[in-house]
Amino acid sequence: MKSTVVGSFPVEVKEASTAKNKLLNALGAYDPFKESIKDSVIAQLDAGVDIISDGQVRGDMVSIFTRYIPGMKIEDGNTVIVSKIRNPTQEISIKDLQYAKKIMKDYYDGNIPEGHGVKGIITGPNTIVHSSRIAGFYKNKEDAIIDLAHSLKSEVDAIASKVEPVYIQIDEPFLSTGMVDMKVASQAIDILRENLEIPLAMHVCGTLDGVFKDLAKFNVDILDMEFAGNNVNINVLEDNANLILNKKIGFGCVDSSVNTVDNIDDVDDLVVRAINIVGKENLLLDPDCGLRRSPKDVAFEKLRLMNEVKDKYS
Ligand SMILES: [Zn+2]
Repeated sequence: MKSTVVGSFPVEVKEASTAKNKLLNALGAYDPFKESIKDSVIAQLDAGVDIISDGQVRGDMVSIFTRYIPGMKIEDGNTVIVSKIRNPTQEISIKDLQYAKKIMKDYYDGNIPEGHGVKGIITGPNTIVHSSRIAGFYKNKEDAIIDLAHSLKSEVDAIASKVEPVYIQIDEPFLSTGMVDMKVASQAIDILRENLEIPLAMHVCGTLDGVFKDLAKFNVDILDMEFAGNNVNINVLEDNANLILNKKIGFGCVDSSVNTVDNIDDVDDLVVRAINIVGKENLLLDPDCGLRRSPKDVAFEKLRLMNEVKDKYS
């Protein structure tokens, strides 16, 4: 049983303090987020997380992608689709992931343990289009979703070849809302997956009773969902365990929606239930969702506690 995170970590943007950074700052070349990435990576590793993210520190999950995608523009913080969606103008997350991996390698004195590493995270085309406004070119969201899937595929392939992550995760929180055409959603995931030689995960937030049967059919290796801050989903998993025999479960076992540290006995009980349903070889423990909104010490403690439970059963 391994552990991971969904992605985001509390950001503390630091002013340039070292001589080198002050000089870079004076030249307009200081990247304040680099220190945030480093902090988030070290915190995840200190807490015992096996498969880490870069902390997704640069901004909200939609605009960090859409600002590089022709056909989309950002107005007052919201993405508007204005013309045909094409491939990103540059690689989006590669440098940050490579930096996170380098910090991880240094942390382990040059040898990242087997099965540990970084993962690439892409906000899914369904979620991006459903949280954007169509102002031109497309008559329906579905065509925009398929074009965006082709656009994001270049980032997926760049991550796979240049970062060599443990796996790639597609974030599709909107899939539980009932607003998404599940057939198109599944087609979009197939496009992202084409010829990919590493596992693909999909993270979906929210209550699953209306969508689990559909999600179980998606062509992904890992389905990642919330179980701590939601008392319906564990029963849905139990009732439908036969549908996901070919998949691993990313098991949200600490509640990312509250800013208090979870009760370890509750987390333990939940994980034991999950082990009984899918087997520990098919479980990846993580928080319900990103931890961006938690205070840093609370986020750390949630991850540490989760790994204490993992260690007990590994
Ligand atoms: Zn989520």
